[in-house]
Amino acid sequence: MAAPSVILNLIEGSFSPASGGASINVYDPATGQLIATAPDSTAHDVDAAVEAAAAAFRPWSELPATARGAHLNRLADLVERDREEFAQAESMDTGKPLALAHSMDIPRAIANLRFFAREILDGDLEAYESAQGRAEVHRRPLGVAACISPWNLPLYLFTWKIAPALAAGCTVVGKPSEVAPITAWMLAQRAVEAGFPRGVLNVVHGRGPLSGAALVAHPKVACITFTGGTATGESIARAAAPDFKRVALELGGKNAAIVCADAAQPEHLKSTVEGIVRAAFTNQGQVCHCASRILVERTVWDEFVGALVLRARQLKVGDPLDAATDLGSLISGQHLMKVASAVDGAVRDGGRVLVGGSRIEASMLPERVRSGAFFPPTLIDSLAPGARANQEEIFGPVATLIPFDTDAEAIAIANGTRFGLSASVWARDEARAERLAQCLAVGTVWINSWMVRDLRVPIGGIRSSGLGREGGLEALHFFAEPVAVVHGARGAAIAEAEEGAEAGART
Ligand code: NAD
Repeated sequence: MAAPSVILNLIEGSFSPASGGASINVYDPATGQLIATAPDSTAHDVDAAVEAAAAAFRPWSELPATARGAHLNRLADLVERDREEFAQAESMDTGKPLALAHSMDIPRAIANLRFFAREILDGDLEAYESAQGRAEVHRRPLGVAACISPWNLPLYLFTWKIAPALAAGCTVVGKPSEVAPITAWMLAQRAVEAGFPRGVLNVVHGRGPLSGAALVAHPKVACITFTGGTATGESIARAAAPDFKRVALELGGKNAAIVCADAAQPEHLKSTVEGIVRAAFTNQGQVCHCASRILVERTVWDEFVGALVLRARQLKVGDPLDAATDLGSLISGQHLMKVASAVDGAVRDGGRVLVGGSRIEASMLPERVRSGAFFPPTLIDSLAPGARANQEEIFGPVATLIPFDTDAEAIAIANGTRFGLSASVWARDEARAERLAQCLAVGTVWINSWMVRDLRVPIGGIRSSGLGREGGLEALHFFAEPVAVVHGARGAAIAEAEEGAEAGART
């Protein structure tokens, strides 16, 4: 067995352990093996990183956008060069299938870096002409950006934050999840190789309540972009309030998938079932946009639910390294206990488990992964829309099934939680799908699709799912202060001055 890797912080261009010497153990959740140790950073480390970022801000923000974009593209080149190593690390750190890390996480991380490198060049100056003159909107980078990311899509979401921040001219202190820190460490090493100026990108590892909280509270942090749980988001919003730091929060969800009768007709049944399976179970259901409540029009309940249960039963749960694996391990044994207890609670509330429902026995798993945290795709029906499993985020391979009779009822159920992240509508009648989409109180609605992303389009949630948007110009604008610079028209200024002088002479 290889020795665990030693992860270090990147502060002012140099690698260092936590100042107090403490570290956090990082495990492969599929095997239970210790694979790395990460710095358990203190407020002292955070302070050093923020000071380094503050010192690097002016020269970085004054570089032409092309030069900042070139740095991001060089970093993307290095991740691309080492994509195999990155995919293996992401799979090992999270338990997700290696094939998924290959097809989704790593290509998307590369795309994030390249997208914002290009997007910053396209940002035309916003200007308005009128008889009084020309009003321009100048966007000035805010300063030091705190970028805090979760464990479910580690490199994908870390780059989704640091790329627009750096492109916009901010300097960064990143705080990756302590649960899955390896690819952020690899990225920090590539950033040094890519020649990022010292202090422009700092990466501090550690626990949320210690280093994360210190970062959020630091007076020299200008803005915070956070993706994670709703309760953490609330505590970050409170910590940011006294200094009025700008905050973007991407939080949890309880996303509905609405299946209309025409999408379950024999010729469409297979593709709708495949779409729902992807929406509910990708990444073991640990994507914030996963569909966790499947609303099915009652007239096709039997056909649709029957086909969905059959397909869920066929999904292969097992070794993330096996190319045939559909679902790997959950992020940890502790998280598995949370998921299992939510399912037990659903059963106590009257729910009926149609497939899955409890941890996969070790004896059913391949030898290499018998200590892993494997939970099967699980579908539950017979629960009222207000039941806990229909209201609280479970963040595992668990979805509920709820019948509806009318569109009004589907909309009321879909909108009937405190969340508002995303939803999907599955219907062949496009006009009906559009009408439903317009009534859903969420940041994104997918029609006959799920997680199809155009990076130019804003993404984010409302209510307890968050505040603000990421993606495209919205992301670049988040990291900058809009300042109006108004040039008075020559004639207008002279006319006003003359009027003023005349008025003055009269008084
Ligand atoms: P989490 O809130 O526990 O942690 C997220 C990050 O915040 C980690 O880096 C953690 O160290 C840090 N953190 C924790 N406490 C902190 C504090 N007090 N101050 C500052 N930082 C702190 O979330 P998680 O368990 O890593 O991720 C799962 C959650 O993330 C789920 O709820 C999921 O829905 C959500 N999520 C949302 C989106 C989205 O785009 N809306 C995307 C992915 C995940």
